[in-house]
Amino acid sequence: MTTYQAPLEEFHFLLHELFHASEQEIEGFSELTPEFTSEILTMGAKVATEIMLPINRSGDEEGCKLENGSVITPKGFVNAFDEIRKGGWTGLDCDPLYGGQGLPITLSLIFGEIFSSCNISLTIYKALTHGAYATILAHGNSIQKNTYLPKLVTCEWTGTMNLTEPHCGTDLGMIKTKAEPISKVEYKITGQKIFISSGDHDLAENIIHLVLAKVPGGPNGVKGISLFIVPKFLVNDDGSMGKKNDLSIGSIEKKMGIHANATCVLNYDGAIGYLLGEKHKGVQTMFTMMNEARLGVGVQSLALAEVAYQSSLIYSKERVQGKSLERDGKFSTSPKPIICHPDVRKNLMNQKSFIEGARALTLWTALLLDKGTRSSDKKSYGLASLLTPVIKGYISDIGFDMTVVGQQIFGGHGYIEEWGMSQLVRDSRIAMIYEGTNGVQAIDLVGRKLNSDGGANIMYLRELVTTYLHQSTVSEEIENEFFVPLKNSLKDLESALKFLLDNGIKNPNAALAGASDFLHLLGIFCIGFMWVKIVSRVSEKKKAGDKINKFLEAKIVTGKYYMANTLPKTMFLATKIEAGDKILMSLEPDQF
Ligand SMILES: Cc1cc2nc3c(=O)[nH]c(=O)nc-3n(C[C@H](O)[C@H](O)[C@H](O)COP(=O)(O)OP(=O)(O)OC[C@H]3O[C@@H](n4cnc5c(N)ncnc54)[C@H](O)[C@@H]3O)c2cc1C
Repeated sequence: MTTYQAPLEEFHFLLHELFHASEQEIEGFSELTPEFTSEILTMGAKVATEIMLPINRSGDEEGCKLENGSVITPKGFVNAFDEIRKGGWTGLDCDPLYGGQGLPITLSLIFGEIFSSCNISLTIYKALTHGAYATILAHGNSIQKNTYLPKLVTCEWTGTMNLTEPHCGTDLGMIKTKAEPISKVEYKITGQKIFISSGDHDLAENIIHLVLAKVPGGPNGVKGISLFIVPKFLVNDDGSMGKKNDLSIGSIEKKMGIHANATCVLNYDGAIGYLLGEKHKGVQTMFTMMNEARLGVGVQSLALAEVAYQSSLIYSKERVQGKSLERDGKFSTSPKPIICHPDVRKNLMNQKSFIEGARALTLWTALLLDKGTRSSDKKSYGLASLLTPVIKGYISDIGFDMTVVGQQIFGGHGYIEEWGMSQLVRDSRIAMIYEGTNGVQAIDLVGRKLNSDGGANIMYLRELVTTYLHQSTVSEEIENEFFVPLKNSLKDLESALKFLLDNGIKNPNAALAGASDFLHLLGIFCIGFMWVKIVSRVSEKKKAGDKINKFLEAKIVTGKYYMANTLPKTMFLATKIEAGDKILMSLEPDQF
């Protein structure tokens, strides 16, 4: 069995010691006192571990079933979803106008991690609902907001996003689903969508599908796409449930992981849909949902990496294999727990240093997003949007690797299903694919986000880092082991950036060839910045005479490990990026 305890001490440290949440001049942050966050996070962790975690394994084994045209979720899911709903855990950061609690995204992201650690399949039903809520909130008219938002906030109704079709995933311009106008506000939606997460289930009385479709006669390609609200059951004017809409479930996809989340083929046979946002601006409208979902996907990976780490850590202390080198320089006479072996240690340190640094980065990004949206700080918002593909792409790539590392620590016991490590690997794999593959995240970063506002966002990041490095007074040890490596890594980042800017315009392939490497470079660099901040904070506390417990002591060592073992990868990545596309693109397809 896997092991999980919500890392509450860690969340407390990040919120209050590192980011000084309650002191931030952002609307709603003064409420985030240590007492409040400790209480609410403890309650949330209790719900997640007592209600969601116990049905995680059985949900994976049982999966979803399609019976008489409707999806049945695994045993216990209906009750668990009900409990989450009743506890008010579905609308934490939603607008109080529609029944939400108005808490910052920074806090709700932490719940996203805890809930995903305990049961990712169940969490996805809620996460997509939140995405639908955010899209209708941002783009809906008042009737749409009043009709759908209160029910989505409570998850009495859930939401989905429908982009993918059999012949088109990444290239949305090829969408074939049609939306024919039948009145001023109603359209008839016809077409097939595949791979729709939470596409049908028995957890809620209605499902609000957000569907991309083309209105005949519109522009070709992406510019001709519009977004529609297509409820499973139509909603009467008085808010009561109307007749079943003309859509059906073709099948549930059989897949590698997240078995308890129903991934459906949906057939729209002239279903009634309502235009959401402007006609032909559907992709931009849907981006509200995708951007939010992308942050959430990074957090999902982190959440599973955390469970893999906790589980493999315990196992490494219990599993006895092989003699170890003792302090006296001699090998022990009897076999020792595998945590004594340097190779296992390396695996654990890789997990720990990635997870803790990546968690700081996701929270920082959420904080920037809160600042951007709640305090209209354009620079913070811009930086959060630059970091979104990094969180999605880098954290899900490495988060997946870290579940595999956890599996490796279990040896053969990690490969068989009994210990649950295999499920973590299977469940984690999808994060690299959905919400736009990680390759597409890299293109988004290099092709759009780096250049938006004339490169203002990456310049702002650079400014924040250099100002921090210049203004902080630290010990020689911290200067040498943290500040100097980060300065060197910044040079790698700048060098790679220069190559992309110098070459990308005249030859886009030169930049695209290195896009994934650049996404990783930026991810590694940003996590390095987080470690610099974390360790500087601990050393500040030390200087002030505060008690440095084992948790804080471990931060310094873990940070040193990251700076010495992971951060130098930026040099290698910069070299790769600067090799461009020449060799990469020189074989003809038939030479492969
Ligand atoms: C379990 C699961 C749940 C999902 N949930 C949803 C959902 O709720 N709603 C929804 O709409 N979709 C959903 N999807 C679909 C998912 O978002 C797509 O699978 C994904 O976006 C990739 O599309 P594709 O599979 O068609 O791959 P393709 O677009 O065919 O891509 C194939 C490969 O080519 C690469 N590629 C494609 N174009 C380019 C390019 N221009 N440059 C470089 N590389 C490129 C991709 O990175 C990928 O590696 C889900 C998928 C799965 C498996």
